Amino acid sequence: DVAVALRGLTKSFDGRAVLAGLSLRVERGEFLAIVGPSGSGKTTLLRIVAGFERPDEGSVEIGGRDVTLDPPERRRVNTVFQSYALFPHMNVLENVAYGPRMQGLSRRGRHARARDMLALVRLEGVAGQRPHELSGGMQQRVALARALANEPEVLLLDEPLGALDRKLRDEMQRELRRVQAELGATFLYITHDQEEAFGMADRLAVMRDGRFVQVGTPSEVYDDPADAWVALFVGSGNAIPGRVETIGPHPVIATDFGPLHAGGGADLARGSDALVVVRPEATRFSAWDESEGGPNRIPADLVDIVTLGSSMRLRARTAGGLDLESVRPRTEPGSPGQLAPGSRIAVSFAAEAAR
Ligand code: ADP
Ligand code: MG
Repeated sequence: DVAVALRGLTKSFDGRAVLAGLSLRVERGEFLAIVGPSGSGKTTLLRIVAGFERPDEGSVEIGGRDVTLDPPERRRVNTVFQSYALFPHMNVLENVAYGPRMQGLSRRGRHARARDMLALVRLEGVAGQRPHELSGGMQQRVALARALANEPEVLLLDEPLGALDRKLRDEMQRELRRVQAELGATFLYITHDQEEAFGMADRLAVMRDGRFVQVGTPSEVYDDPADAWVALFVGSGNAIPGRVETIGPHPVIATDFGPLHAGGGADLARGSDALVVVRPEATRFSAWDESEGGPNRIPADLVDIVTLGSSMRLRARTAGGLDLESVRPRTEPGSPGQLAPGSRIAVSFAAEAAR
């Protein structure tokens, strides 16, 4: 059951391509996050879905109907922005009841729906207040209730939590996810914050320069990124440059540190340049032991050890100046007690953990 289908969307401004042929299907009831750096075209895409902008080519289908040429008011979508855009002269209940009023619902009907939506976002107590009397987080929940009161086929959210501080943002992430699940609503959620996308979404579409470079579940994208750019955009990682020696399910990359063995890799061609990417949590630092051998072992000097609450981050540098990082839980046995900054270490990782 498809809520939104985008096919071959392109858009240029002043001869510059901002969307370069995008296709995407969003299932009904799905929470799909579009994540990409700023300037990658996310807002432009959302404005095309909402009808504020026309694509140069391609089509937009919402709820099985082609709406490419329909104006915004004829599309069953609503948008929540970073700025709440509430009506200052109306109280909270009237703000939320606004959409249903425009749909022609009776006073009783629209107030009942507005109260339902306020209960959903846990704001029944402030129905009679004006927006300016509320905190930023509460105003954003009112904006959410107002958008949902229209019963949109899909709710579009453009960096809705961007203006909130860290703690409130975490709370609102859980809140948005709960509301979405309770309603079984379809959310198309835009963010440049990959952590936010990972924490909330059923699927991610990773956008770069007007293209989707990967669409998949958070674990697919994190564990099996389409390329080194995706790997390093969605998480931190050690990136070791080399040249492809052997392709296939277990590629081998020739590097300054000898051949490195990986557990997979996208679109490799023998002889071409490649990066071996390993997550810091899969990278192990241990005291250098001349007698130990085996592949995927890189000599380096420990630079520093930083303790971050429940984990430790260790950084090392190779003779050639490549920085490598390891993250491990503080409680993990075999603590790097004997590793002091300046000591010679071996950086190692399992082939399966490397892409
Ligand atoms: P994002 O939301 O990912 O940050 P946008 O979709 O806002 O990206 O912008 C993508 C690119 O398109 C940017 O380079 C931006 O300057 C350009 N752009 C967006 N809207 C317009 C417009 N109306 N006219 C000209 N350029 C635009
Ligand atoms: Mg934007």
